[in-house]
Amino acid sequence: MVALIERNVLDDLKAQLLSEQKRLQDLLSKTHLHLHRSEPVPADFAEQAIETENDQVVEALDQEAQIELSQINKALLRIEKDTYGACVVCGDRINLKRLQAIPHTPFCFTCASEK
Ligand SMILES: [Zn+2]
Repeated sequence: MVALIERNVLDDLKAQLLSEQKRLQDLLSKTHLHLHRSEPVPADFAEQAIETENDQVVEALDQEAQIELSQINKALLRIEKDTYGACVVCGDRINLKRLQAIPHTPFCFTCASEK
């Protein structure tokens, strides 16, 4: 299968996805600690003042992060399978600028705006 995206551009996008994946995993480990407070909240987390937020805010953050993380994991899977950069709905190439703005998007602009 012909690569949809140049290797060096793909490497950049993959690096972006991996750092975002790590950020979200860190965030989720903290939101989980907050939501299941049998263990103490880490000091650096407390410093972010999120400890003082109410649980609903943390829960919303947690849910959002989980959704985004799963989209990122799927995007990384598509990179492994060489299908990354193709819209999962219509199969068209996703505009590169769009991918650079939202590396985890599975949709081309047209399909995303029909949602
Ligand atoms: Zn599409």
